[in-house]
Amino acid sequence: ETMIPHVARADAELDAYLELTPELMRAHAARVDARIAAGETLPLAGVPLAIKDNMCVTGTTTTAGSKILEHFIAPYTATAVQRLLDAGALPIGKTNLDEFAMGSSGENSALKRTRNPYDHERVPGGSSAGSAAAVGGFEATVSLGSDTGGSIREPAAFCNAVGFKPTYGRVSRYGLIAFASSLDQIGPFARSVEDAALVYDVMGGHDPLDATSVDRPLEPSAPHLRDDLRGVRVGIVKEFATSDLGAEIDACYRQAYADLEALGAELVEVELPTAKYGLATYYLIAPAECSSNLARFDGVRYGLRVDAADVGEMYEATRAAGFGPEVKRRILIGTYALSSGYYDAYYVKAQKARTRIAEDFARAFERCDVIASPAASSPAFGFNAKTDPVAMYLMDYYTIPVSLAGLPSLSVPCGAVVPDGGSRPMPMGLQLATPLFTERAL
Ligand code: GLN
Repeated sequence: ETMIPHVARADAELDAYLELTPELMRAHAARVDARIAAGETLPLAGVPLAIKDNMCVTGTTTTAGSKILEHFIAPYTATAVQRLLDAGALPIGKTNLDEFAMGSSGENSALKRTRNPYDHERVPGGSSAGSAAAVGGFEATVSLGSDTGGSIREPAAFCNAVGFKPTYGRVSRYGLIAFASSLDQIGPFARSVEDAALVYDVMGGHDPLDATSVDRPLEPSAPHLRDDLRGVRVGIVKEFATSDLGAEIDACYRQAYADLEALGAELVEVELPTAKYGLATYYLIAPAECSSNLARFDGVRYGLRVDAADVGEMYEATRAAGFGPEVKRRILIGTYALSSGYYDAYYVKAQKARTRIAEDFARAFERCDVIASPAASSPAFGFNAKTDPVAMYLMDYYTIPVSLAGLPSLSVPCGAVVPDGGSRPMPMGLQLATPLFTERAL
């Protein structure tokens, strides 16, 4: 009862939420109280949870940050969310995002502009902009994001939160509005690795409602956390030299790697020669899958419809009015890459490159247990600073190869840097990645 007004006040500044859900929260709280009174123990009893608005929650508007779904009410609840609610978590609200999770700053939301809690003139990162800002800005204890190429890890870095992307297939995508289905993965934001692990332990695991959800036992991670790194070999990627990122950022990461060593880790150099093709590969595969997934928004089945003389014109008018510029760009690129005559040259080639990138990681993990790198190419930047789409895409240089390989990956706070032209220090994130299905080790 006291939390919602507090969050609403704080959020008048940050705009992390698209919608607060006090009634839903109260209803769940009553249910949790009753179950506790009946003697049940719930692992997440009373934990305030914010949910990225590309996840369906029955009865809530679920917009994906788009005009085309601005008034869409979800008729069911995503599996990942349902498992957390069943474990006692309380839904505070739905958070802002780049439209259909396409973006790295939050600025592609068609509905709101979320601010960075550490500097309101800077972006929170994206696409899980609101979920990162809510946790970093103390407007939620934990939140859910989705990560296709970096959308949990990069905003976590910008907002001083822990962000965790599990192995592809670990967390059900049922009820997550699809962007690029072979990459999308739900994961938590939290203010500690332990909180992130507690959330993951509850929501992960096989779901028959998602055909790509992996049927493999999930061993809880939270009980196995350690506070030293003795015996752990940390791979530092030769091709990811941080000296390219400027003196201050370089110093920050050198310190982070030295901190890992001080905790007992052994640093080893590893090579990922094909990682530099990650961005080019991703920006064929992700748009291709997006063009297919977003074909369903045709004015007939969901959300917005703009009436017109015939059905073809209705499709066109609806999609022209409902989708923003970045979404249209992706649909065009993806449709082109999949068209006959170009399919082999672009899409098939990208799939081959994806396999090579995954093989590079597998080879690197013969020499180390975990790979450390920057989570993003810079700290949070100012609004409207990146007008060139490719400059925006470059923010995910370090996270995208990991996504293409499907690996579990974590972004943890690792200090702060005063950005160029900035006046105060902004949080930095360290990305850690381990082999497939080794969340517990991570
Ligand atoms: N920034 C990347 C993109 O725009 C990744 C987004 C994401 O992970 N959802 O596609």
